[in-house]
Amino acid sequence: MAPERLNQAINKLPQDTQCWAELRYGQNLLTDSDIHNPGTLVNFHQRERVAFHEEGHASLARALGWTVLLETVVPDGSSLGMTKAAPNSSKTPDQLILDAIAISAGGEAAEEMLGVSDHSGCGFDRGKQRYLASIFLLITGSRGSVDSVISGQKSRARSFLGSIGLYTHQQNSMTLLRACA
Ligand SMILES: [Zn+2]
Repeated sequence: MAPERLNQAINKLPQDTQCWAELRYGQNLLTDSDIHNPGTLVNFHQRERVAFHEEGHASLARALGWTVLLETVVPDGSSLGMTKAAPNSSKTPDQLILDAIAISAGGEAAEEMLGVSDHSGCGFDRGKQRYLASIFLLITGSRGSVDSVISGQKSRARSFLGSIGLYTHQQNSMTLLRACA
């Protein structure tokens, strides 16, 4: 799109969405038709973080051989998005619990990649990780702490998402946003 037409379209957006739209358009994450559709842009801007979070869960699940049954950023009650995955049946119960902790940590790890420092939407995930880590310690008889189990799986999530890379994660998150628009 010609720069002056791009500027005209961007100037029609609410101020807090303008910089974001320019940046994402420059990254080829938004199309010309998106740029001419202020409603879509504002919607994508507001929900990008949620998509990043859910895609963090889903990409971890897929990488660990789990089947993603549901991945959505359509709000439902108090939740802004949701990912459900079914375990890989070839794994042992303790491996599955560690996987589930890593998948749960994937949401927050993805937010970190986006540069978000306020993880207030991760309370449910954190509670689930503590509960799962306690069960892991119980069934394995390990002497480690809940925090160390969680921190090991958080590192696993971070390193996996790092290997995918920020741009691919952004593209996948945008695909999710479009699918749920
Ligand atoms: Zn989550």
